[in-house]
Amino acid sequence: MPFNILELNNELLTCIAGHLSIDDLKTFSIVCHRFCIIAHDDATWREMLHNEFGVTYKLPDDTWKQQYERKCTDPKDNRICPHLGLVTRKSLEPYKGNYNNVINRAPPQHNCVICAQNHYESGLCLYICKGNNRIRCKDCSYKFHAMQKGRHGILLRIPVLQMYCFTCSRQLGETRGDESEEYYVDQLLENLTHDSDKGREQLTKRRQCLFERGLHITDSDRKSVLSSTPCFYFIDRMWLWAWFLRLCDGKLATEPITNKILEDEKGELNRDARPRGGSTVAFSIVTPRLWNYLVKTYGLVGKSYQSSNYVFVLE
Ligand SMILES: [Zn+2]
Ligand SMILES: [Zn+2]
Repeated sequence: MPFNILELNNELLTCIAGHLSIDDLKTFSIVCHRFCIIAHDDATWREMLHNEFGVTYKLPDDTWKQQYERKCTDPKDNRICPHLGLVTRKSLEPYKGNYNNVINRAPPQHNCVICAQNHYESGLCLYICKGNNRIRCKDCSYKFHAMQKGRHGILLRIPVLQMYCFTCSRQLGETRGDESEEYYVDQLLENLTHDSDKGREQLTKRRQCLFERGLHITDSDRKSVLSSTPCFYFIDRMWLWAWFLRLCDGKLATEPITNKILEDEKGELNRDARPRGGSTVAFSIVTPRLWNYLVKTYGLVGKSYQSSNYVFVLE
């Protein structure tokens, strides 16, 4: 019996259309009214996204076609990791027990099962790939990954809830990632952590870290501060730097802003203070929004110095 493509049901046609190139899809869509509808159906774009890029997630308010278009602008997987789709709520289920087990342990009990060293400070990890559920330190996870030819493992640093893709070589769902990736990671982590108070607390901290990293980019970069506001604040450069480094490591600051260091004997802003320091005390400049946020969140030792009260040459 001759094969007639018109006799295929819509599901199969969607599947076929999902394997076509954009040009072929255009041709496909002008064959007949039914094909035209299938070519424009979002399910077809979902298939295309998966077949062409391996991506299986999107923002809830986006269509699959929109996600396909986003992914077309990311050929090197710098913003939308295709390997992350291998981790789903379901595939994370077997890891929940070990995750909760680790976060509820006392500090002396954070030993890696491979090297037997204590890793309370640096944090234990889970290597998420096909139910592999052993609790390793970061170094042992890297070594384990090196032996897994062709596998796309994702590393989860348990205490800070950072997800790292070995294949893309970057943290997932963080500042450089696409919104859809950030959303998907957040959803996975919410599911992983929601069974325990400690887990939920960790997720709140992770979200705060990401929020503050965003603020760091927009509100402490010299050029954008100077162009966005006539009034800015001086902040101890070392404190700001330490705050940022901790955020990159998934941690919040632990001490109040140390602006006391910028003070001279009279309690005024030290006239020798310079933007980049050198032999003198150094400051950075931040927007009023970031300044107020940091003071409210971490506290302040020393004074608040607003630019309108000082004349400085900002080199
Ligand atoms: Zn990846
Ligand atoms: Zn180890």
